[in-house]
Amino acid sequence: MSLLVVGSVALDTVETPFGKAEDVLGGSATYFSISASYFTDVSLVAVVGEDFPENHVKLLKTRKIDLRGLVKTRGETFRWSGRYGYDLNEAHTLDTRLNVFSDFNPEIPEDYRDSEVVFLANIDPELQMNVLSQMKGPRLVACDTMNYWIEGKYDALKSVLKKVDILLINDGESRELAKEPNLVKAAQKISSFGPKTLIIKRGEYGALMVNENSMFSAPAYPLETVFDPTGAGDSFAGGFLGYLANTNNFSEGSMRQAIIFGSVMASYNVEDFSLNRLKSLDYKEIEERFGEFRKLTFFEGLR
Ligand code: AMP
Repeated sequence: MSLLVVGSVALDTVETPFGKAEDVLGGSATYFSISASYFTDVSLVAVVGEDFPENHVKLLKTRKIDLRGLVKTRGETFRWSGRYGYDLNEAHTLDTRLNVFSDFNPEIPEDYRDSEVVFLANIDPELQMNVLSQMKGPRLVACDTMNYWIEGKYDALKSVLKKVDILLINDGESRELAKEPNLVKAAQKISSFGPKTLIIKRGEYGALMVNENSMFSAPAYPLETVFDPTGAGDSFAGGFLGYLANTNNFSEGSMRQAIIFGSVMASYNVEDFSLNRLKSLDYKEIEERFGEFRKLTFFEGLR
């Protein structure tokens, strides 16, 4: 099934206790599309500036990502810089420069408009809405957001949420969005805004999926080396939606498997800076870690 993503393609500067990476490839749509490309065909809609290095475009092409929706325009590429302390669960944003995203008006290529699965990655909710309004009845729409937009564009974000099936969001942001400290109550409140499925990403504590009648919890893969958590959420979303688009099955059982594939992709991503680990994976490694997750969470029932 065809999978379309709109989001940021960025140059990131990231500092963790283990090192610093300057002006490296990042962005929500970048992490998402590279991760999802291991499962299905991906089309990307975003904008970059004249300063965007050609070797990054090449990398996306190597992963066979359809880049007809990647616009290059005058100005500088979106830039984000952040720092993590020893608690790698929390990114401290130091600077966000929207640059070419400030007046980006995405025109979805005609061939993309009937994509069946759409991911509105973290970006201005007005852009997310703009993209959605050009689509011809997708079967599944998921979106992500962050505190920057919850605080800056709350109403626009609520309008987007009315139109999505799945919201992926981290725990702190779900509390902020719902204005509710308890996670279960926050999930119920957010569902009343629109999305019938909520996936709450909890960093090293895993992910929680909340549907109307069920909850599913997956741990994060216990890693010895976590180098840089940037992009974990987007790689998670890429594995999750990539798998769903590949199987064309959105049942509860399939969504649970997809959560594990999301967790696998996030766990590989954090092993190195930028896209360094994700870009060189092979599918066998993904399956192997999926198997490790099964072992990790298996337990006997009561007799
Ligand atoms: P994640 O760690 O998965 O939440 O996402 C990290 C990526 O999000 C980074 O590569 C940033 O370039 C990108 N990012 C950070 N802030 C924003 C923002 N306000 N809008 C869009 N993308 C952003």
